[in-house]
Amino acid sequence: MPSDCVFCRIVSGEIPTELVHDDGEFVAFRDIHPQAPVHLLIVPRVHFVSMLDVPDPAYLGRLLDAVRSVAREAGLATDGFRTVINTGRAGGQVVMHLHVHVLGGRAMRDPAG
Ligand code: 5GP
Ligand code: ZN
Repeated sequence: MPSDCVFCRIVSGEIPTELVHDDGEFVAFRDIHPQAPVHLLIVPRVHFVSMLDVPDPAYLGRLLDAVRSVAREAGLATDGFRTVINTGRAGGQVVMHLHVHVLGGRAMRDPAG
């Protein structure tokens, strides 16, 4: 657990953050700079830099399962939502701890980039 990783510090409770979801493996909380009326981050408790860093493909399946649970719990299932995973610098990843953005509560525009 890199002590300089902001998401590790949130997961450990060092940075107090309300968790809207916690299934023991993944947590979710509100993005500090929301880009939509609902903007949640789904974050593994274990530190992986990105999806490229995850050895077990089934783990990524469980991560997506958590994403849809969080979206349902946030009331986004009926209208729909956008899921974003930024990977690496060119992908726009700023926090180097794997996370999935869930954006909803308004119609999304294209292109995403
Ligand atoms: P990335 O560009 O790495 O995919 O997105 C990182 C996201 O984390 C950004 O949307 C940013 O607003 C969010 N973020 C960064 N630091 C914090 C924090 O301390 N707390 C919360 N809740 N969100 C954060
Ligand atoms: Zn971390």
